[in-house]
Amino acid sequence: MAVAVRGLPARLREVSGLLAGRFGRPELCAHETDPVRNLVLTILSQNTTDANRDRAYDRLAERFPTLPALAAARPSELEEAIRVGGLAKAKAKSILGALARIREERGGYSLDFLGEMSLPAAREYLTSFPGVGVKTANILLLFSFGMPAFPVDTHVLRVTKRLGLVPGTSTLAKAALSLEPYVGTGDHGPLHLNLIRLGREVCRPRAPRCAECPLLTVCPEGARNTKCCVS
Ligand code: SF4
Repeated sequence: MAVAVRGLPARLREVSGLLAGRFGRPELCAHETDPVRNLVLTILSQNTTDANRDRAYDRLAERFPTLPALAAARPSELEEAIRVGGLAKAKAKSILGALARIREERGGYSLDFLGEMSLPAAREYLTSFPGVGVKTANILLLFSFGMPAFPVDTHVLRVTKRLGLVPGTSTLAKAALSLEPYVGTGDHGPLHLNLIRLGREVCRPRAPRCAECPLLTVCPEGARNTKCCVS
């Protein structure tokens, strides 16, 4: 496990409180509560926008309304249905491979057994599927099972690096695993969603809007940027 940044629990609490003060505490809203469908959805979400992920999912659900129908699809049919989300060939392979394995191991299309496992064990199971990384597994475990998993996407990684909560060299998976144990109880979902919102609206990849950021008082990069701007 990565070495934690000093004072991390208190800093995460402070960041979470400041974000909630600006954005409120968002409700966890899984697109699909069924874990297998959520797995499909999170595979579709890789390297694309939410809008295109949703379009791909809607087309897939329209064409293959049940999980057995989806599992029986030919790769080319599935690729065609989800093409709008990009990486269609790789995603179709991941989805069909995951469904075939779940069916073979569990005798049906259910991941409900994950709810009985510990978070590390459930994550290890999910990340053993090709195409399923820590981020995808954590999204599923947080949104489908309410586990205290902390998904880190590119927005969350960028913001937490700028805040000095993770090292500048951290990867998505390393950041997720190093932050997760120190996020407050019940805060994993709201903090994850609010950091994404901040990353999209304020702490953008280029030209972050530090002067109007609710985290300016606790952000080393924000302090540097604003001094730079006024001098
Ligand atoms: Fe990002 Fe600036 Fe806010 Fe820091 S102060 S989190 S760099 S927008």
